[in-house]
Amino acid sequence: GPLLEARSVDRAHGRTPALRAASLSVAAGEILAIMGPSGSGKSTLLHCLAGILTPDTGEVWFDGRRLDLLNDARRSELRRTAFGFVFQFGQLVPELTVADNVALPLLLGGTRRKQAYRRAGEALLRLKLDDLGERRTGELSGGQAQRVAIARALVTRPKVIFADEPTGALDSLSGEQVMELLVGLAREEGVTVIVVTHDARVAACADREVVVRDGKVTDPYASEAVR
Ligand code: ADP
Ligand code: ADP
Repeated sequence: GPLLEARSVDRAHGRTPALRAASLSVAAGEILAIMGPSGSGKSTLLHCLAGILTPDTGEVWFDGRRLDLLNDARRSELRRTAFGFVFQFGQLVPELTVADNVALPLLLGGTRRKQAYRRAGEALLRLKLDDLGERRTGELSGGQAQRVAIARALVTRPKVIFADEPTGALDSLSGEQVMELLVGLAREEGVTVIVVTHDARVAACADREVVVRDGKVTDPYASEAVR
């Protein structure tokens, strides 16, 4: 069955409806692009799938479990251990070194310093960034910073990486490198990648794309919530 699913999810922000009966199914190891106009509900959908937002109605399933029914503590633990996040920008701590930033999710999760930095080093090596470990992230180019953000998303060995406009602030070459990295993770390590993007070239790297319009998703693989 699918690794991750939204089933008939409604979600409003205050009085603004953002998702209306949105259903989506994501297979393990799949690279899925979520496209659609600005304000259509893409980020809200991503946040519901990732357990950052809870649906007003409907269901979110992860790995055979109802994610939306977990309490806050269990949900944030799941986010920390099973999910990785890459956003458009502003996600690294500029005063810290690259290695500090990458080790941070492990340190926050209670991993011992030595092990956290060893695994940060492995993630940086995996992304060919090992020569940048001691640099302050404030000194990096946009493309380098985004690759470091991917290393940080990866360091906990997540099942799913959620990326919201990961190439939105990059020139096209850096954007291609970022997508190559995400595709490589999916192909070589079976990581599931869900990427929100406006960029057709980014979507072209995905296995499949769905379009969100007015809070609705058209996904032929989706199932409905049982009401
Ligand atoms: P997209 O990612 O496709 O641009 P969003 O999911 O960010 O769409 O937003 C969907 C709708 O919900 C938009 O009308 C947006 O303005 C609104 N919205 C999103 N987040 C909030 C929020 N925190 N508070 C109020 N309105 C929001
Ligand atoms: P995008 O269009 O790429 O989703 P946005 O600028 O619409 O980017 O949204 C970025 C973040 O701001 C999202 O996390 C969204 O939930 C939040 N957001 C969007 N619209 C509003 C709003 N009207 N009020 C508060 N937060 C919002």
